[in-house]
Amino acid sequence: MAEQLGSLARTHTCGALRPADVGRGAVLLGWVHRVRDMGSLLFFDIRDRHGLTQVVIEGNEALLETAKRARSEFVVAVIGEVERRSDDTINKELPTGEVEVRASELRILNEAKTPPFSIAEDQNVSEETRLKYRYLDLRRPQLQHNIGLRHRLTMALRKYFDEQGFYEIETPILTKSTPEGARDFLVPARVHPGEFYALPQSPQIFKQILMIAGFDRYVQIARCFRDEALRADRQLEFTQVDLEMSFATPPLVFEIVEGALAACFREIGVGIRRPFRRMPYAEAISKYGSDKPDLRFGLEIQDFGPLFKASPFGIFREAVEHGGTVRGFVIPNAAKYSRREVDELVDLAKQAGAGGLIYTRYTGEGVQVSAKAIGEEGARKALEAAGANKEDLLVLASGAPDHASKILGQLRLLVAKKENLVPAGKWELCWLTDFPLFNWNADEKRWDSVNHPFTAPREEDLHMLESDPGKVLAKAYDVILNGWELGGGSIRIHDRETQAKVFRLLGLSDEDARNRFGFFLESLEYGTPPHGGLALGLDRICALLAGETSIREVIPFPKTTQAVDLMCNAPSTVDPKQLRELSIKNI
Ligand code: ASP
Repeated sequence: MAEQLGSLARTHTCGALRPADVGRGAVLLGWVHRVRDMGSLLFFDIRDRHGLTQVVIEGNEALLETAKRARSEFVVAVIGEVERRSDDTINKELPTGEVEVRASELRILNEAKTPPFSIAEDQNVSEETRLKYRYLDLRRPQLQHNIGLRHRLTMALRKYFDEQGFYEIETPILTKSTPEGARDFLVPARVHPGEFYALPQSPQIFKQILMIAGFDRYVQIARCFRDEALRADRQLEFTQVDLEMSFATPPLVFEIVEGALAACFREIGVGIRRPFRRMPYAEAISKYGSDKPDLRFGLEIQDFGPLFKASPFGIFREAVEHGGTVRGFVIPNAAKYSRREVDELVDLAKQAGAGGLIYTRYTGEGVQVSAKAIGEEGARKALEAAGANKEDLLVLASGAPDHASKILGQLRLLVAKKENLVPAGKWELCWLTDFPLFNWNADEKRWDSVNHPFTAPREEDLHMLESDPGKVLAKAYDVILNGWELGGGSIRIHDRETQAKVFRLLGLSDEDARNRFGFFLESLEYGTPPHGGLALGLDRICALLAGETSIREVIPFPKTTQAVDLMCNAPSTVDPKQLRELSIKNI
């Protein structure tokens, strides 16, 4: 039977007691973590989010009886005195490990069913069970730590942006479709049958309007909603640290964002090197085959096109003749790979979309190459040009330059893992710049924005906006950490004429543009300052700094990759009456 808390007040948290408290009285409130029943003597650890404290029960029959009823996850109040533990029972792993509380009273405030998994022990529990009982999962020390870190990062960011003169301003959740290129979540407007609000994919238009409204520097820890496929680093709703600045230039945005990330890293006791490295998008694609290069290790992709221009190996020669190339990278100490290991590499390259993968290495007598037609001479030249030594293996793929690099880029990541080339505790931050403004959408025969339609073209490329849009580079930037995109942004278009031209290139008629963004186009005409900004993914930052590989580990109530909240069983059907009120018919 549960007892009452009454007016009992806690004197210490479960992580607070130290040797200096020995001899003092203490009231601790929390959960029973682990019980060790030794007959006439019983120990248990009491837990709250601050830590664990050992409680001893001895020499009082009634108390022992109550304690024997207490099971893991019962909620209890312990009233007692702080004692020093005997030398042989000191636990150096615990901040409270030098002391224990000898209980004089124990109240069971609430009982608990046996949980479906242990909170105290790290068991191999399926993610499904963890998410169904998320309130128990969240009790586990690791998630308590992650959510605590998330809080500290949020506070550090708020403090930093306040010091930099940013206002935190809220923007609407029920709004109009925004143009980040994903599918919208729609909310029926009951009082306007047939009309819908959209949940924001980002506060993009509002933050630009806040610049027009003269707020100079805006930040918001903003929830964003995008109805797209879920992955380890994606959720339907996620949190961005969204910011915008008037009179911004890329170097100013870089400086502010680097400061914000430094403030985050300070929370885990890591100092980061600033300024961050900068790399044009084109270089990232060619050298790393990715727009989010992991720079913690080498394996850089090199171009061997000119070497194979007249190669007797038809596949390479023809690739170069047709505007493609041959690219590859050196895998250090991989000359010793067995037949099975090299076959595995070839398979991986094929899975990544390669027609094939050629490898070559020095042998005791000469050079071995997997495509005989290349010949020893050709292979040796490539090994020399690559700077390979006799312990190394050179892998080569051909095709359109970006395609070859992207395949090798995927292989590069797999090889780094296989060969343990990713050093622990290394943080490689980098800015990617000079993205193209548009991508050609072959299906719909029009241009798509690489970022979003408000991104400004580089001034030196403005003249090509209509004549050669594919060549125009954007004043856009992404910030990358260890192969994850932490965020991205741009300097914005701030004149109506350029904005209208961009909409036309994207295939939006003047009328469509007016319908969707008319209010915004109009606002541009009332004295819009040059401005720019960026959004950082808070979930991703938090996951990386917590050492997690999935953002679900740092989101209190995430959805599964099937887009389901297993705890509250959302989404779910609704009462037909609700649908009628909303003028919605199930079809
Ligand atoms: N709104 C952009 C995004 O969500 C970020 C930005 O351009 O500031 O990706």
